[in-house]
Amino acid sequence: MKLRGKRGWGLLLALILAFCLPLGVSAADAEPEKPAKSGWKYVKGYKLYYDKNGKLVKDVSSIIGKRSSYIVKVNKRKNCVTVYAKDGRKGYIIPVKAFPCSAGNATPITTARTPSKYRWHRLNGNCYGQWCTRIKQGYLFHSVMYGKTSNTSLSVKNYNKLGRTASHGCIRLRAGDAKWIYDNCRRGTKVIIYNSSDPGPLGKPKAEKLPSWHRWDPTDPTAKSLCRKKGCH
Ligand SMILES: [Zn+2]
Repeated sequence: MKLRGKRGWGLLLALILAFCLPLGVSAADAEPEKPAKSGWKYVKGYKLYYDKNGKLVKDVSSIIGKRSSYIVKVNKRKNCVTVYAKDGRKGYIIPVKAFPCSAGNATPITTARTPSKYRWHRLNGNCYGQWCTRIKQGYLFHSVMYGKTSNTSLSVKNYNKLGRTASHGCIRLRAGDAKWIYDNCRRGTKVIIYNSSDPGPLGKPKAEKLPSWHRWDPTDPTAKSLCRKKGCH
């Protein structure tokens, strides 16, 4: 047989494949069977995603892609925010990501729909927050406060309280997390503020402590170049 031209090579490849593929299958069959670890699973009323090592994936935003609607739940007692996406008719049972926050004793236990957003907004005490989303009345999601509408005037002292009760009632977040809500949760998004000793299905991420000279939020995309310059993040 002469193997010349595309057809000849194609035939040879087909022969090789035909010979090797059954071997490959039988080799795989010899492995002990393991249940699939990765993928979506329904657990305790939630739809959770596990990686190939069977580990819970704590941010599935890139896996599920951008959604048109979310519900944001704030666990006031544990200072933990969890964002949920919809699983068809089953409702908002996909925990997408979680943020550490600082709520306050005055934070109301409530269900509300966000009426408005502000890129920068003046807060109580002559300071400013970035990426603010109003929950209701005077209660907002916002970044940790700044002395001015400048991303290098961050209150480091308050940044280092994230994860603990510290606010006058607003929900303080890392700038990147406040921005995520600002960018992804349209006006009218449902916010549920509740109390539980369980932080939430994704747990509560730890907020990093900053040294006093770090007067910007390392999660703030508009300040990223400062971290790059300093080599700190
Ligand atoms: Zn930095």
